[in-house]
Amino acid sequence: MPLRLGILGGTFDPVHLGHLRAAQETLDLLGLDEMLFVPVAVPPHKPGNTIASFQARRQMLQLAVGGNPRFRVSDIERRMPGKSYTVNTLEQLHRENPGAELFFLVGGDAFFEIDTWYRFMEIFRLAAIVVLRRPDCGENEKEIFDFVTRKVSDLYSIDPESREIRHPALLSVYNLRNTRMDISSTRIRELAARGRSVRYLVPDGVLGYIDGNELYRKAEGPAANDCSRNDNAAYGDVGGS
Ligand code: ATP
Ligand code: MG
Repeated sequence: MPLRLGILGGTFDPVHLGHLRAAQETLDLLGLDEMLFVPVAVPPHKPGNTIASFQARRQMLQLAVGGNPRFRVSDIERRMPGKSYTVNTLEQLHRENPGAELFFLVGGDAFFEIDTWYRFMEIFRLAAIVVLRRPDCGENEKEIFDFVTRKVSDLYSIDPESREIRHPALLSVYNLRNTRMDISSTRIRELAARGRSVRYLVPDGVLGYIDGNELYRKAEGPAANDCSRNDNAAYGDVGGS
């Protein structure tokens, strides 16, 4: 049986329970062997000086995945030169894991922008795509199907039994029925910037790292890249000002 390898890429600034739970549910629902968490080294879309260092983000990931034998942190994007493009990372993962089946996890917010990514069509050839549900993101089977039919190929069809979105030449796209968790790194940074606790949004080890290194003490960085448009207003209730 080929190795079934999940890949969750992200900024992870910081990793939170939304990432970890989605990864666990994907492992369970799709019967994967292992989940790789891949922190981006040089984000193509975010200016590097607005995010925590690679070393800090990777360290928080290590603390978060410790104790789960199926979770692993990969520094593959650190080892590759230039900007971190998903298509290059997937090609490299195939070279490093010959014969493995790759499952690329992506949240509903990011998935519907995938057509702006470098060589995005190739991604659908290199890995099955697992679309994760997030609060307020409209992802459902029909929307995902319409999107890939429009942007990638009109040969996709929905398998009536498994509900998998299949293609004769490309790999499948899955609409994962994961638990929606209303957690984003942006909200965590905003809370921490106001001196509020982020306990129970991140694992305890990550909490300790953030506190110990005084991360995110000042508000900075771009606005939320998730689908919730009223995050700031909602968080006023929790965090005050
Ligand atoms: P930011 O607010 O800084 O963008 P984020 O919470 O979206 O942070 P990322 O590091 O950008 O975290 O996310 C990495 C991947 O995980 C993306 O594909 C994203 O859509 C997905 N993801 C993040 N949070 C969740 C969540 N709560 N549920 C499901 N998927 C998520
Ligand atoms: Mg994001």
